[in-house]
Amino acid sequence: NSLKNIAILGSTGSIGTQALEVIVENPSLFNAYVLTAHSNADLLIQQSLKFKPAYAVICNEDKYTQVKKALAGTATKVLSGIKAIIDIVTDPQIDIVLTAMVGFAGLEPTISAIKAGKTIALANKETLVVAGGLITNLAKQHNVKILPVDSEHSAIYQCLIGEDYSSIEKIILTASGGPFRGKTVAQLANVTREHALKHPNWIMGAKITIDSATLMNKGLEVIEAKWLFDLSADQIQVIVHPQSIVHSLVQFEDGSIKAQMGLPDMKLPIQYALTYPTRLKTNFKRFDFIDYPELTFEKPDLMTFRNLGFAFEALNRGGNMPCIVNAANEIAVAGFLANSLSFLAMSEIIESCMRHIDFHTQPTLDDYLNTDKETRIFAQNLIKQMPQKAY
Ligand code: NDP
Ligand code: MG
Repeated sequence: NSLKNIAILGSTGSIGTQALEVIVENPSLFNAYVLTAHSNADLLIQQSLKFKPAYAVICNEDKYTQVKKALAGTATKVLSGIKAIIDIVTDPQIDIVLTAMVGFAGLEPTISAIKAGKTIALANKETLVVAGGLITNLAKQHNVKILPVDSEHSAIYQCLIGEDYSSIEKIILTASGGPFRGKTVAQLANVTREHALKHPNWIMGAKITIDSATLMNKGLEVIEAKWLFDLSADQIQVIVHPQSIVHSLVQFEDGSIKAQMGLPDMKLPIQYALTYPTRLKTNFKRFDFIDYPELTFEKPDLMTFRNLGFAFEALNRGGNMPCIVNAANEIAVAGFLANSLSFLAMSEIIESCMRHIDFHTQPTLDDYLNTDKETRIFAQNLIKQMPQKAY
């Protein structure tokens, strides 16, 4: 039986809805077995009526009754709360868990799925940022594959097919540069959330869109790459490529470079993670060199976009430092999206957390959970103390 049961954690999000499009196009290959959302009950109900999953989980318990009522009399069991997500990913019927929820909340469900031996299609990069060592060790122990959904990492994964990882000299992660590429610090002082939410090449969830504008996204991806491909920080280079056609590259020890290219469309890496090691024929729009007479590359501006530097620093420090950076960033982005923090102040929050939260060199899962909590409280307080003005 080649029908694979997929659990989509975060089915109502940008990655989740695109994964469901891939499933619609390949009904004989994939079955949406579990769908989960945080609070978007309306969309979760709509998706459940259409895809008839065995389980629909609404994280926000206040929305449970609404979902339960709407799906009464259907074959879908309705559950609620993060614990339910952590439990349901272990269901023996599940083949692949697609982690498409946003942020630190993805950590515990991912651990649970790995322990149950599920193949992980990983979109939730924050999980590897926070606890990459713990996650990759656990995956090895349980003989579990972690297949990247992030387009850059999918590109690298594809370049490495048939190659020996020990022959990697370095990888080159491409970054679009986001909506503020080329801007100076002075020009960034007054940018608003509306400016930042307009990404030139990708339509994504709000958090990752802001991360792209600050280059934090690329910083998180550097750490994600370290763990996925077992690299050191000096083997990871970031290059700005505004057209987002070259999705990333690998340079081998003989000097040869491989790239994976295509039009920006997340459905391709999502599908590849679900069908690996095979490829599926698609009717996605094809890239044509003639439409792009210029593919350009430039150095990232680390003086202006400080978050990328913080991510490299966190990677070099190791321990719980990436967890601190991640939590501080989640609070900073939420603050910026709520108009209670300026664009540039997001970096100040992260920097301050890095300097003040207790550093652990060998964190356990409990240490990560504590660090995350502690950092969030510290960052919230910093925001409260900042002079408030309308942005
Ligand atoms: P969205 O914000 O669009 O969607 C997030 C999904 O997760 C929604 O289904 C949301 O539910 C759910 N969710 C949010 N918070 C929680 C929580 N605390 N507990 C449980 N579920 C929660 O995000 P994206 O789809 O853009 O991104 C998802 C992940 O994929 C992120 O880690 C991102 O970095 C990564 N990624 C995304 C890319 C993209 O193109 N979008 C590209 C590469 C990586 P609800 O709708 O109810 O709020
Ligand atoms: Mg990416």
